[in-house]
Amino acid sequence: MSEEVTAQDHNTVQQESPVSHKRKDYLPWDDYFMATALLSAERSKDPVTQVGACIVDSQNRIVSIGYNGFPRNCSDDEFPWTKSKVFLEDKKMYVVHAEANAILNNNGLNLTGTRLYTTLFPCNECAKLIIQVGISHILYLSDKYGAKPKYQASRRMLDAVGVTCTQYRPQRNNIVIDFKKI
Ligand SMILES: [Zn+2]
Repeated sequence: MSEEVTAQDHNTVQQESPVSHKRKDYLPWDDYFMATALLSAERSKDPVTQVGACIVDSQNRIVSIGYNGFPRNCSDDEFPWTKSKVFLEDKKMYVVHAEANAILNNNGLNLTGTRLYTTLFPCNECAKLIIQVGISHILYLSDKYGAKPKYQASRRMLDAVGVTCTQYRPQRNNIVIDFKKI
């Protein structure tokens, strides 16, 4: 196939270029941040529940991300990933939740007035941390454990201090990340 460009083709190209309008299908901010939380959840080693969180400031800058996992240097292969009636063999005794990790990973920034995007509504322990660092708005995807006491306690505290909680409805159903796109 010839790659020669005729004078007529060249004129056509000049008339159509440069593109002067922006893309219409770009990712909205909220979908972008919730997708970042979901992508972070993919790092979790928990075989049952993978949760991700992303903290964003008023300038739409991501200030921290996190996912559920064991504390640093507690081996993912030695500590238990199961639920167990034997306390010391129950993962709950060891796992740091995604929201807590996001708060702790923030490189020393002030989190007052920030937004937290999380894939799952926060538990009561995370709610305490969220309140104490001054996060003002929680956007969550799922509230599937909302009837359990610790999630009711969470909502009670968050409501009492005026942290806004919004169940987020993404504008698109999925985002494909294709490493071969570039
Ligand atoms: Zn939690």
